[in-house]
Amino acid sequence: MHINPVYKSCSRRTRGSRRPALAFLAVLALIAPLADSMAHHKLARTPLAPHKSLEVRSAATRDATLRVMFMGVSTILLDDGETAIMTDGFFSRPGRKSLLLGKIEPDQTRITYALSRTGVTRLAAVLAAHSHHDHAMDSPEVARRTGALLIGSESTANIARGVDFPEDRMRVIDGGETFTFGRFKVTVIKSLHSPRGLYKGAITTPLRPPVRISGYKEGGSYSYLIEHEGRRVLIHASANYKPGFLRGVQADVIFLGIGRLGNQNDKFANEYWQEVVQSTGAKVIIPVHWDDFTRPLDKPLRPMPRLLDDIERGMRTVQRLAGTHHVAVRHLPLFGSVDISELSR
Ligand SMILES: [Zn+2]
Repeated sequence: MHINPVYKSCSRRTRGSRRPALAFLAVLALIAPLADSMAHHKLARTPLAPHKSLEVRSAATRDATLRVMFMGVSTILLDDGETAIMTDGFFSRPGRKSLLLGKIEPDQTRITYALSRTGVTRLAAVLAAHSHHDHAMDSPEVARRTGALLIGSESTANIARGVDFPEDRMRVIDGGETFTFGRFKVTVIKSLHSPRGLYKGAITTPLRPPVRISGYKEGGSYSYLIEHEGRRVLIHASANYKPGFLRGVQADVIFLGIGRLGNQNDKFANEYWQEVVQSTGAKVIIPVHWDDFTRPLDKPLRPMPRLLDDIERGMRTVQRLAGTHHVAVRHLPLFGSVDISELSR
């Protein structure tokens, strides 16, 4: 999860100020929908209008060699018709009230709905970016249903153990590993969570849902380089970098995390761009982690409310940098299966 200065300020409070903090959260839960609709009203007029024109149409044919699909946050499906792999597989998207005040757990109905929309029944692997709820909460269930290998940190493994996912179907990563699935080669790259991320630390024992959102600790963040028949796709979910962390990595297309990028200064954004996009030579980027993950996937995606994440500014920043460096910015339609070669046209 890349959002929410409110959570952060609460986590800094001492025990003595816990009650005002809870009251503040309760008030926020009530006013957030209003702020939300105000932000969306503005967004409907401004940033999404230009983005809409960049949206790639999904073709009806399924004979392409490599197709990609976006399903919110950093859940992405890559499918070559024989083998399919998915990042995160986050479909439950619990609402704001349960995030703030209650406990959360995988929503079986929503997972069923989303998987049916993808059209895939078998996955070779589910790759978790990190162990916050908006990435890894559903990963074990999606892997279980699709017969996939679950790949993630020790924390992600503990999310899986908490729902009795079989140990022999998971692989714990720490960066540098490679996996082959059919014609896909996956390389794990250790990366960094976006700055001022919440719920740091690791999940050290099996996490049995329902639990409070704070139970889903980050547990280390990872990017995935996915190579397929000469094509190279980098999935970089979280908007941060370590200097030189992608040295030697080449990518054609990057699914680029922009969560909280709009709340960073220009220096950070420029360096992020340099380290992730320019250093890999990518010519196409698809911004991800911009949608309000408290909305279910049977509704259109909307940007995060500005109260929590200035997506409008983050998008503008990315478009400015892309324009300067002759990189195309594309957006995928929710659940639209797109031939990856169409992205660079
Ligand atoms: Zn996160």
